Amino acid sequence: MENVCGILQTAKLNLEQTAVRLKISDSILNRLLEPKEKIELTLNPTLSDGKHIQVKAFIVKHRDSLGPAKGGIRMSPTVTLEDIQGLSMEMTWKTSLIGVPFGGGKSGIQVDSSNININDKEIIIRSFTRGAMRHIGPEIYVPAPDMGTNEADMGHIRDCLAYSWGQSITNGCYVTGKPIILGGIVGRKEATGRGVAYTVLAACKKLGIDIKQARVAVQGFGNVGSVAAAELFDFGANIVAVSDVTGGIMDNDGIDIKQLAVFTKNCGPLASYPAAKQCSNADVLTCDCDILVPAATQSVITSDVASRIKAKIIAEGANSPTIPDADEILAQKNVFVIPDILCNAGGVFVSYLEYTQETQREQMTLDQVNKRLSERMNARFEQVYDYSQNKKLTMRQAAMDIAVQRVVEATQALGVLP
Ligand code: NAD
Repeated sequence: MENVCGILQTAKLNLEQTAVRLKISDSILNRLLEPKEKIELTLNPTLSDGKHIQVKAFIVKHRDSLGPAKGGIRMSPTVTLEDIQGLSMEMTWKTSLIGVPFGGGKSGIQVDSSNININDKEIIIRSFTRGAMRHIGPEIYVPAPDMGTNEADMGHIRDCLAYSWGQSITNGCYVTGKPIILGGIVGRKEATGRGVAYTVLAACKKLGIDIKQARVAVQGFGNVGSVAAAELFDFGANIVAVSDVTGGIMDNDGIDIKQLAVFTKNCGPLASYPAAKQCSNADVLTCDCDILVPAATQSVITSDVASRIKAKIIAEGANSPTIPDADEILAQKNVFVIPDILCNAGGVFVSYLEYTQETQREQMTLDQVNKRLSERMNARFEQVYDYSQNKKLTMRQAAMDIAVQRVVEATQALGVLP
């Protein structure tokens, strides 16, 4: 039977294997395996039609040895406290690896964002913010968008906090990924997908693949997937398959990503795009391509999928898309996996720029943001690649070693006493 491994299990297994390689003591490992705080909230918002609903929400702060917890808010009817715990642990490694002074956190709201109107979504986001207020702050936990939430939601969070204090603005950065007009930073919305594309380019160079000849498949056409696909399309790649929750489309001659974006915005679901052949979501993962970008949800690359994957490069735009058993199969097949904590770290890096901009009342230009993003993604890619070559490790193992080592050092430097 296929081994189904959730985000938390995957995160713990990856950490335990890293601890063996780095010879981390049991006492430190036990600290890192558990979050510092797990908060469960029960929200009771009244929707615009007068209906009362009850919603579960979660906030997990995994570690803050390197700085305040940082991580997005996931809105999904199926999100669990365990998922949020696993994702918050991943954030600890991601912020450490990309070199920003943050720890790891994450939030979840158990609501189907695709099934509510924008007024009700705002009501729920404000209800969450009031409940979560004590746990959010520039020195505590700084949320951002994740699956099912967007910049408009971050604007409501900022307003809800400032309004509660009778102020026009918050004192410092309480949330990133806000609308630009409210102190958000240019290029944040695109930063994760753009960062994914930069790491794909860097991997292609190492493997001698010409991006202009490369065939790319992308699972997920939301914030991360649509931008990664558009950037790779602009670099000259042939996007041969794309999918979202409605299903997939495929065309060996290439899909015009700009046209597809216009279609999904104005005309209908992605799966009904008339200029390409329909296929299943699973077909996209295993189709004939050189580069696969899973940019939707977790645990989609199972052992069965891994054994059928044809891509030479997997760029993990999504968090935790690959289960550990599948990782072993991919390593045996010599598939070059750019791990999530490196591949999709562009979002949190630009969130850090937003954080500093807001604190200093600075205004950065798009060129400055993109230059810093590209420099940081390339530098960290090179660091992980060199480490993996020197130590004969996979890119995920190398990334984990570098990230976890920094958190261990910070934890020890802080000392053992409270
Ligand atoms: P989003 O809500 O904007 O988009 C998600 C996309 O995935 C949508 O196109 C949706 O239709 C599709 N999808 C959902 N379930 C699917 C399924 N079962 N099969 C196929 N497609 C499915 O979310 P996003 O912000 O683009 O996040 C996508 C992934 O990237 C998540 O794993 C998230 O944690 C990760 N991530 C996001 C950011 C960010 O800045 N937004 C940063 C780092 C990592």
